[in-house]
Amino acid sequence: MRTASDSFRLLEALRHGAGHILLADAGLLGAETAGSLRALGVNVTLVDPADRPLSTHLGATAASWVQDQHVRAGVDLRTGTAVVAVETAGGGVAVTLDDGSMMRADAVVASLGVTPAIDWLRDSGISLSNGVPVGSGMRVLDHPGIYAAGDLAAVPGPGGILLRTEHWGVALTQGRTAAASVLADLGLADASDGAASAEPPGYSMYVHGTKLTIVGWTHDAIDEAVVHGAVGEQRFTMALVDRQGRISAAVGVGGARVANRLRGLIARRGEIGEIGQVLEKTA
Ligand SMILES: Cc1cc2nc3c(=O)[nH]c(=O)nc-3n(C[C@H](O)[C@H](O)[C@H](O)COP(=O)(O)OP(=O)(O)OC[C@H]3O[C@@H](n4cnc5c(N)ncnc54)[C@H](O)[C@@H]3O)c2cc1C
Repeated sequence: MRTASDSFRLLEALRHGAGHILLADAGLLGAETAGSLRALGVNVTLVDPADRPLSTHLGATAASWVQDQHVRAGVDLRTGTAVVAVETAGGGVAVTLDDGSMMRADAVVASLGVTPAIDWLRDSGISLSNGVPVGSGMRVLDHPGIYAAGDLAAVPGPGGILLRTEHWGVALTQGRTAAASVLADLGLADASDGAASAEPPGYSMYVHGTKLTIVGWTHDAIDEAVVHGAVGEQRFTMALVDRQGRISAAVGVGGARVANRLRGLIARRGEIGEIGQVLEKTA
């Protein structure tokens, strides 16, 4: 599942009577595809090697919430196992999982293995690893006059680790920053401050109709706390905390407002104890 024509192919399969779709990957795209298919009354099997869907993006509590939503929506959720082979069989597909078991479905949708489209830059002299490495103002490292923004840009995150974020909002912010840098470097505007690098990334998705919003960097979170609402009420916000006890991300279920109000705190890696004050101030 990458392009619009991929989704039209899926629609075409449904029109031709496909009633059972196996989704390989319970990540963002897998979760949203599962939601759309269940809303159409299609049987869905969702396979993912993680113990809980999206746990590396959301932390344990919100990931468990996602898991519950899939089960409640009637998804046949198979976690802790991966698809290792797919073969066409009798008008449908036969899928082998890594525990050796076999499943049948009318079609398989894979939404995994995203890699940045950087092959065309192989001989450019830019050192490509996880995408195109950029520094301040989305300037490509060691290559003055070249800028990168969007899915392929590897931006220094907290601790200097180069991170790529594959979301529209991030591509838009980075594009604006890169444009400001071009103008500044040409002497046509004031110097760009490289804001896109410091600003926490944020994006939203829908899990069976409920909005889920993620703000910040979840890769180094080791702890979490509910900072607003209640998990059972389908409306809550989690703060994710890094090794130094500082807030690295917020995950909002059922509404983005509280998570977005924590942006400033996440950007400067504040402490859990500051959250009450921040929420009061921004209420
Ligand atoms: C199925 C799907 C659903 C998504 N849903 C969401 C969502 O709900 N929310 C969200 O925030 N993000 C979502 N994303 C991610 C989002 O689409 C990307 O983060 C965003 O499009 C990145 O923008 P970009 O400009 O960096 O890259 P792209 O949008 O991929 O644009 C890059 C363009 O460059 C072109 N190109 C590639 N190589 C060359 C070349 N050598 N020369 C010229 N042109 C070239 C490509 O054809 C493409 O048109 C989704 C992605 C997918 C695949």
